[in-house]
Amino acid sequence: MKPIQLLDLATQRARLEPGLSERMNRVLEHGSFVMGPEVFELEDRLAELTGSRFAISCASGTDALILTLLAVGLRPGDAVLVPSFTFAATAEVVALLGGVPVFVDCDPHTFCMSGADVSGGLDVCRSEGLELRAVIPVDLFGLVADYSAIARALEGSGATIIADAAQSLGASRSGARVGTLAPLTATSFFPAKPLGCYGDGGAVLTDDPDLAATLRSLRVHGQGTDKYDNVRIGINGRLDTLQAAVLLAKLETFPEELNARSEIAARYTAELAGVLGVEAPLLPQEVTSAWAQYTLRVSDRDHLSKHLLSKGVPTAVYYPVPLHRQPAYAHFPRVGTLDVTNRLASTVLSVPVHPYLTTEQQTHVLSAVKEGVAT
Ligand SMILES: *Cc1c(COP(=O)(O)O)cnc(C)c1O
Repeated sequence: MKPIQLLDLATQRARLEPGLSERMNRVLEHGSFVMGPEVFELEDRLAELTGSRFAISCASGTDALILTLLAVGLRPGDAVLVPSFTFAATAEVVALLGGVPVFVDCDPHTFCMSGADVSGGLDVCRSEGLELRAVIPVDLFGLVADYSAIARALEGSGATIIADAAQSLGASRSGARVGTLAPLTATSFFPAKPLGCYGDGGAVLTDDPDLAATLRSLRVHGQGTDKYDNVRIGINGRLDTLQAAVLLAKLETFPEELNARSEIAARYTAELAGVLGVEAPLLPQEVTSAWAQYTLRVSDRDHLSKHLLSKGVPTAVYYPVPLHRQPAYAHFPRVGTLDVTNRLASTVLSVPVHPYLTTEQQTHVLSAVKEGVAT
């Protein structure tokens, strides 16, 4: 059996050749390394893939979040609700722009922000005299948050929902695809995400033509009708043409890869049902996940991760220290004591779920988990 990896980019690359190299070579030949034709071709394909009207590519998932906050007019001192159980970028962008991230808890089963978490956030903003500008639910591990419940909780608040879909491109909820579930959706093409390039990349998805125009201006220094016409403060947030070429090649196999991840996850969940000492991730019936991670909850995580490693199964902990306990973020407001977040941070363990795991490798992962929790 080949060694098991958390992510197998080499097998994926072998599968994508020679198309991948042809795509990249074409860019080397035409030489439009910034905003070349592949960038616009990719944006069309992303709009098609997600069903959103506009896709605005950019330099990273972090830039995608920055662009959305600039587009909704975040002002210094404005509050933005963010989960504490997420990657740092979700809260970082708010603080970087002078806003106040307000940390909320998450659902213990889906790991995502719920409507009740948002209601708690509204109360904290009221009591601290903060103006709420936006809410950033995160589709953690690829599972789509309940955007309708969050929208209901926000009714009348004037706050905009920005979906952090860095991990969930290709997923859906009640038949609606990620990219259409919130007025603005930010995603990432970091190599380890479900759709990854060979460096940094990201995109914003929206149905709103005015927001799309603003985002396009913001990603090129706030440009107006031409390069030397600056109508707003923006950033240099463009996606490299070479990365767009890589993504176009990878889009060929992306739907199959999503299916493979789903099948592996379904097999794991079926075979781990009833196994004592380990809880498989819950997938609500109306949700399809992009399965960026397959994340177990276990009481003795250190023991299981050591056992798995000894059996050649690599694991990862996303995220061992929640943001509200990080030195850079500990002074920001939070809703209550974030008990669910704290508990998850000490019990979650992600096991390999990449689309190129062989049946034999999956069987090995499963038996190693079952052995590990039984000993
Ligand atoms: C990866 C990630 C980001 C940031 O994306 P980059 O492309 O690395 O900047 C933001 N939010 C979440 C939840 C992520 O997983």
